[in-house]
Amino acid sequence: MIAMDEFSFIDTIKQSIYKQSTLLKGIGDDAAVFDSYEQEIVISKDMFVENVHFAKHTMKSYHIGYKALAANLSDMAAMGAKPAFYLVAISIPRDWEMTEVHSIFQGMRDLADLFNMDLIGGDTVSGKELVISITVIGYGEKDRIRYRSLAQKGDIVFVTGFLGDSQAGLYILNHPGNYKERSYFINKHQMPFPRVDFALGLESLLRVSLNDISDGIASEANEIAEASNVTLVLEEANIPVHPAFDQFNPKLQYNWKMFGGEDFELMGTVPKKDWDKLLLIAERNNVQVTPIGYVTSKQELGYVLIDNGSNKMERLDKTGYNHLSR
Ligand code: ADP
Ligand code: MG
Repeated sequence: MIAMDEFSFIDTIKQSIYKQSTLLKGIGDDAAVFDSYEQEIVISKDMFVENVHFAKHTMKSYHIGYKALAANLSDMAAMGAKPAFYLVAISIPRDWEMTEVHSIFQGMRDLADLFNMDLIGGDTVSGKELVISITVIGYGEKDRIRYRSLAQKGDIVFVTGFLGDSQAGLYILNHPGNYKERSYFINKHQMPFPRVDFALGLESLLRVSLNDISDGIASEANEIAEASNVTLVLEEANIPVHPAFDQFNPKLQYNWKMFGGEDFELMGTVPKKDWDKLLLIAERNNVQVTPIGYVTSKQELGYVLIDNGSNKMERLDKTGYNHLSR
């Protein structure tokens, strides 16, 4: 660590007040302790490595912290869980300024505060490059965990928000020029907002499958299809994109919306009979929801087909086109 020992550093990131009533011990002992009562514990972890997952010239320290936590909260949303706690393991290069490190934690804290989350532990080391690994712990209601395996024949496939925005923002950052909605796209790249409230709002619906868009909808749709052993049919024309998306080269548009990733929107499936309810919940949470296809069991199982307006549907694999030999 740079010009500050580990213990005084921990003092600076330690919360003075904890918000979660189930927390029994936060930072300061050998481990944290919390109560679970009747709820199911949902836990996830993500790791971010400098120059692999982010670069300093496109992300300020604040954004790095914010986005690292946002990615984890998006996983909580995709399980239908309410985030409560997070732990941060960080490896800090010696040439990083202390103020930059604090900005990373400030970015996390500002997002965490919106969800009343508490930082309850972690580990701090110095290393060659910046690495952040966050563990998030949340609570889920029994029978309301939104497993990927819950899609069934006849369901409607939906997605929240617009797709491809994050990659458009990254492109703008790396290719200086004049763009429409420049700050909108850049903000979507640096500070994606996880759909936690919308996911929790779905609690009146008995069965919903959810997955968050971290790798691209082609990949997430395949994960639901595989886990549920069904076929998802996506209608390309209905995949929602921002009105200013058409300023980019069509090839880029296609790649970003299908395979772009990091939008941290939610996709999922819901029984037809619950569609109106889902729309209402989305509206209440200020989230746009778009129907983009349906679930079937007529085709081979575990696949995603894309309907691009021509008569023949094509298989959509996780990373690109793969023509069906039928
Ligand atoms: P120990 O030696 O018992 O593992 P540490 O000295 O590593 O304890 O950490 C002391 C306390 O500070 C622990 O509660 C630990 O969880 C917390 N902590 C250390 N690093 C971080 C961090 N980067 N973020 C949050 N809490 C941290
Ligand atoms: Mg330790």
